[in-house]
Amino acid sequence: MTNDEIAQTARKYALQNAVQFNGSAQLKAVIGKVIGTFQKQGHSPDELIPVVQSVVKEINTLSLDEQKQMLQRLAPELLEKKKKIRDFSLPDLPGAINGEVVTRFPPEPNGYLHIGHAKAAIVDYQYAKKYDGRFILRFDDTNPEKDEEEFYDAQKEDLRWLGIQWDEVYNTSDHLVLHYRLAHQLIEQGDAYVCRCSAEEIKKGRFNQTDCACRGYDTAGNIEMWERMLNGSLDQCVLRLKGDMRSVNTAMRDPTLFRIITTPHPIQKDRYHVWPTYDFAGAVEDSLSGVTHPFRTKEYELRDECYFYLLDKLGLRKPHLMEFARLSIEGMPVSKRKIKPLIDEGLVSGYDDIRLPTLRGLQRRGIVPEAIKQFVLSQGISKVESTVTFSLVESENRKIIDIRSKRLFFVPEPIRLTVDNAMEKSITLPFHPTDGSLGSRLVHTSDTFFIPSDDARKLHKGDIFRLKDLYNVEIKDTVNGLQGSYAGTDLLQESLKIQWTTNDHIDVTVYIPDLLYTKDDVYNADSLRKVSGYAEMALKEIRTGDIVQFERFGFVRIEHTSKGTIANFSHR
Ligand code: ATP
Ligand code: MG
Repeated sequence: MTNDEIAQTARKYALQNAVQFNGSAQLKAVIGKVIGTFQKQGHSPDELIPVVQSVVKEINTLSLDEQKQMLQRLAPELLEKKKKIRDFSLPDLPGAINGEVVTRFPPEPNGYLHIGHAKAAIVDYQYAKKYDGRFILRFDDTNPEKDEEEFYDAQKEDLRWLGIQWDEVYNTSDHLVLHYRLAHQLIEQGDAYVCRCSAEEIKKGRFNQTDCACRGYDTAGNIEMWERMLNGSLDQCVLRLKGDMRSVNTAMRDPTLFRIITTPHPIQKDRYHVWPTYDFAGAVEDSLSGVTHPFRTKEYELRDECYFYLLDKLGLRKPHLMEFARLSIEGMPVSKRKIKPLIDEGLVSGYDDIRLPTLRGLQRRGIVPEAIKQFVLSQGISKVESTVTFSLVESENRKIIDIRSKRLFFVPEPIRLTVDNAMEKSITLPFHPTDGSLGSRLVHTSDTFFIPSDDARKLHKGDIFRLKDLYNVEIKDTVNGLQGSYAGTDLLQESLKIQWTTNDHIDVTVYIPDLLYTKDDVYNADSLRKVSGYAEMALKEIRTGDIVQFERFGFVRIEHTSKGTIANFSHR
């Protein structure tokens, strides 16, 4: 390692420390980090300290803004970290030891992720960060009938979009052989049995709290049947935990641990046809993968007893099981089970329909990942089930995008306005009212304008209004087309200020999403409104995926498509 390389590393840590402490890096802290990095490679503190000293001195001569910019350039990941620590505070976890907390997010690859998954993933991820621990992404892919290959990657992509990084990723389906071995152990201990009753009979038994004949078979017989189950010579059976058929907790009435599914698996293909249930796989994987604080939604509460009972019987470590309420949003389907039929029935255009709370739908609608994060963390991890309104997400989003979105003129349902004696003008308009760094655009005007029909309708002969940022116009005629004449530039109190475009404009179709369900849970057929209009030419420079504010109209996310320019309405 050369002195230059050491200095480079020291510079990053010094910048990070300086940004964290208001512009002044502390020598001790930086030395600690640099020694930590280089000592293993045989560099002595005596050699490192002078380099760090001179770097820290250099960094401390910069202003905080300069330090931020430099850190952004050299090591943006260090800048991020600081921000997250400051923004997010979650309550302490029980029994958490710094550096030893392990969390996991366990999606089933059977659909695209939605904002409810984002809640779980963000909470899991943030806790791992809070305690300097590890975060595992685990695909709970144990249902070949539902799981599909495309969703593994799609879910990863959506998590990355949210800014979530995992230290480890694996598929539960890769561990089936181990699961079979544990099942064998349970059977040998007399804690599980093969049940050949029909689904109907099992249900009845649970309801009536009665044992079935299968429960009484001896261990040797059960081992033999289990082996036949695995080799495919026995069908129509399940492996059940010997719980307590008389338990007040229905989840303990001999829950199913393994069932036969012959549909090929998206990854394992037809290697296996005996698949663990969530009760089995969830508990076993949490324990074996070292998870210390697994979170589940409250709907699984009844199954907790089974979770711990099973781990007890297997002699496996028991994690601190944590719970929070499922996220529900008024008028929105925050569940794959509800989203899928909407797509299948063609009631929405796909997983990325802007009315859906899928991460893809939210993204297309102009909701940014930081807003989702802030929303989730502002909700916290209460166990109280409640339904929130989407306006909470919107207001987090507004806080973030307002300060960085360009302002543009957009004219919905345009009406032509001709202005007599209008001089030709070229004006420069800033893209943002306060942030000059967003730049400006040059607009040329002549005698033809377009203004919103809603505004035009309010105008009468003799009225004076203002073409925003340009000049006043007096209405001369509303009958034979809208005509006016130049009426000076003095700002008149209470005169209407109207957005406009010229003959040079871009056709835009705005899509405005509304709630998919009405109050009584009925599909809202008017949930997507379409508004056509003209935007000023500067929109051409806006890239697909960028969010702008159409002044007086709202924030929109732009998509230039082969069929023209689309703006998806985010919120006002
Ligand atoms: P869905 O009803 O959408 O199918 P799911 O629980 O079956 O939900 P999984 O892929 O199994 O979907 O979920 C992965 C994780 O996300 C689980 O830990 C689950 O508890 C959590 N999760 C799913 N939906 C929500 C939600 N609405 N609010 C909070 N967490 C959720
Ligand atoms: Mg599930």
